[in-house]
Amino acid sequence: MSWSWNLGRLFGIDTRVHASFLLVLLWAGLSSFNSAGTLVAALAGVVFMIAVFASVVAHELGHALTARQYGIQTRQILLLPIGGVAQLDQGHMRPKVELLVALAGPVVSFLLAGVLFTFAAILGGDLSPDTFLGSLAWTNLGLAVFNMLPAFPMDGGRVLRAALSSRMGHIRATQIAATLGMVGAALFFALGLYTGRFMLLLMATFLYMAARGESRVMPHPGPRRVIDPNLLQDGDDPREVLIVRSPRGRLWLLRH
Ligand SMILES: [Zn+2]
Repeated sequence: MSWSWNLGRLFGIDTRVHASFLLVLLWAGLSSFNSAGTLVAALAGVVFMIAVFASVVAHELGHALTARQYGIQTRQILLLPIGGVAQLDQGHMRPKVELLVALAGPVVSFLLAGVLFTFAAILGGDLSPDTFLGSLAWTNLGLAVFNMLPAFPMDGGRVLRAALSSRMGHIRATQIAATLGMVGAALFFALGLYTGRFMLLLMATFLYMAARGESRVMPHPGPRRVIDPNLLQDGDDPREVLIVRSPRGRLWLLRH
């Protein structure tokens, strides 16, 4: 992606940050300065935002390193102001692999929250979001819970698809997860309008487009071959076969 800088390689994976991240840091510094009125507070706000994005990188590494266990490489981890994304090389994974890769990110965030809460408890015992450690712990817990929402493009949407795939096939499962994603995004958008929060509107728009993208990519999840319906063999799983009508009216089956 253009307008992004390389932060270096983590476990052999290029990690890049989008240029607009500078605006997020600026906003973090300014809003901290506004509420506390000191430069130290402004600096703490910037450091906190960097710590949040380090948490996001850890979450994405959870996905990427689990995927690597199954021979799937990650092109890059990209940090955007609205979150991170690990761009995996393979779009179509076996349901069990997809389930494990999708779960790995939220699991890392849960573990990080646990470690941070433990440190906060040892260093003074304040687990509220008012302290640096407490706030970072709650943010990681929020990352884990938010990402487990059962709707594309959240990790929970992938977990849902993987779970449904074995019962109704890849196509139906993806349609359900993508539809839930679009409904969820619409709800976020309504919430944004209701509360007047611009960031929510922006995030809802991004989530909607990502969910719609998933629903479109879906019927082409990998190499397919066209087969004559007459050649459908015993033992073929009809749920993994897509029936299409050719311009001449012939029926064809597309098998994944
Ligand atoms: Zn994730």
